Amino acid sequence: MKVHYHSYDAVIVGAGGAGLRAAIEVAGKVKTAVITKLYPTRSHTGAAQGGMCAALSNVEEDYWEWHAFDTVKGSDYLGDQPAIDIMCKEAIDAVIDLEHFGMAFSRTPEGRIDQRRFGGHTRNHGEAPVRRSCYAADRTGHMILQTLYQQCVARDVTFFNEFQVFDILFDESTGERKAAGIVAYELSTGDLHVFVSKGVLFATGGYGKMFRISSNAHTLTGDGPGLLFRKQIPIQDLEFYQFHPTGIYGFGILLSEAARGEGGILRNGSGERFMERVAPTVKDLAPRDMVSRAIHAEIRQGRGAGPDKDYVYLDLTHLPPEQIDAKLPDISDFARTYLGIEPKTQPIPIQPTAHYAMGGIPTNVDGEVLVDSNETILPGLYAAGECACVSVHGANRLGTNSLLDIVVFGRRGGKAMAEYVAKVPHPEVARGVETPVRERIQALKDANGTMKVGELRTNLQQTMTLNASVVRTQESLEEALTTIQTIKKQYNDIAIDDKGEVFNYDLVEALELGHLLDLAEAFVIGALARKESRGAHWRDDFPTRDDQNWMTHTLAYRQEDGSVRLDYKPVKGGKYQPMERKY
Ligand SMILES: Cc1cc2nc3c(=O)[nH]c(=O)nc-3n(C[C@H](O)[C@H](O)[C@H](O)COP(=O)(O)OP(=O)(O)OC[C@H]3O[C@@H](n4cnc5c(N)ncnc54)[C@H](O)[C@@H]3O)c2cc1C
Repeated sequence: MKVHYHSYDAVIVGAGGAGLRAAIEVAGKVKTAVITKLYPTRSHTGAAQGGMCAALSNVEEDYWEWHAFDTVKGSDYLGDQPAIDIMCKEAIDAVIDLEHFGMAFSRTPEGRIDQRRFGGHTRNHGEAPVRRSCYAADRTGHMILQTLYQQCVARDVTFFNEFQVFDILFDESTGERKAAGIVAYELSTGDLHVFVSKGVLFATGGYGKMFRISSNAHTLTGDGPGLLFRKQIPIQDLEFYQFHPTGIYGFGILLSEAARGEGGILRNGSGERFMERVAPTVKDLAPRDMVSRAIHAEIRQGRGAGPDKDYVYLDLTHLPPEQIDAKLPDISDFARTYLGIEPKTQPIPIQPTAHYAMGGIPTNVDGEVLVDSNETILPGLYAAGECACVSVHGANRLGTNSLLDIVVFGRRGGKAMAEYVAKVPHPEVARGVETPVRERIQALKDANGTMKVGELRTNLQQTMTLNASVVRTQESLEEALTTIQTIKKQYNDIAIDDKGEVFNYDLVEALELGHLLDLAEAFVIGALARKESRGAHWRDDFPTRDDQNWMTHTLAYRQEDGSVRLDYKPVKGGKYQPMERKY
């Protein structure tokens, strides 16, 4: 295995929206490398459909303060209000920046950026849904990703595509731990690359592949949080995982909430619009945690559709066909391709699908990684995007707030990293730092165990979907934990078939599964400990929110012996006091 050494000021891991937006900020200022396991424009940001919100007031009266209120209430009061204020305020400039970068937004007849409705976004503190989401048909993420990538190319950003990061390096020569680079594996050759760098920003996206029914791409395996977790960096709020109400039945492929923003309706097996009962004011545009739970309840109480009564319908048949063609072209095609259904004339079978990680690597509003409950910064280490937890989404993210999060905090993280690396010396890294990675790869290739990666991953996904999804209990979580711990033991006895050097996905998937298992275990331990229901974390055995004891963020640490320790830190308050969440 050949080893190559590189020296940079700043390394960005990930080329989705967060990584690219950070790169734009750093490029031209300091020597920067962007390292990505996928070709940049294949990042999951490109799959985002419905939109990115900002209180532009282009089509209806709106203010960033209304947006902030909705985000706090949507988060079930677990979001940190100072960070939410920043995101909602900076949203407006973030959209205008994208427009100046050349982004092709959908327009009003007057040529302004058009806006549409999305769940939980309201006018004047909950009166009625408001048009706040900027969009490009139902391919908003694709447009954002292409736009940001072109800007990076124009700025001569150096990309290392199809390089998978396996490890982080630290410089501890001064007694203080500082980021010092990463070790990456070049997929096309099997060579190792050591990038020594003063700053490292993780933007590796989510980890939805720990669930069987998921909207996430196969590559969303939590590599960034996973490898930092192994270096005793805590991961925050893992138990808060969002289930999007409208995944295609049986597949989990997403049908954007924009479908309901454009007027789509959810109906149960007998055709009833059940969201009228659950959220009388905003109905189908309630936040995702509430809608997913409502669907779960319809199915559990025998009001589902189909032979097994295990799905409900997304009904677009009352919408003008031209509107479907213009505003929802991609998701209509998904319904045709995967279910053979014509959405203009037939309702679409859907079920909640694992979608978005509210939790992640703890950071402050400048993307600096925080390593304990006193918010101690680890110098030189940054995170942004879905892999990070600022926390602006708290216990439940509102639709279109993630594309916003990645550009706002990608920019802030990149800016802070550029300033930091300009004033610190180059880190000390000994030759041979890649040895642990090299040994791990060799051990995997030499292993002649009996277990297969694919099988273990399926078992993990099944238990998570069954026992740790929309609704949980002590019993179901204990069941999940036992299964995960069994799989972790079996994981020590895996063997891979491909022993080669070129595009060895057998090898990388084995390492990815290691991250998924670690994160799933900490997720379930955090969920067991949290004896309340808040946002996406619903415990049937503790069905109320407990602000007295649980206005806290969970921090999960992996200890030297591999066990998980939990700690907590308080939520940062602001103008809005916790209220009952009615919509
Ligand atoms: C189907 C779908 C639709 C969505 N629609 C919307 C929407 O309409 N509005 C909205 O606000 N949000 C939406 N979301 C959520 C939003 O798209 C994501 O949260 C967001 O795009 C994540 O961006 P990111 O830059 O953090 O990560 P990603 O775009 O996932 O990029 C991750 C990057 O990290 C790299 N990477 C990962 N691991 C490694 C490693 N080990 N080594 C090197 N590189 C690595 C990958 O190559 C990739 O470049 C949607 C999500 C999905 C799945």
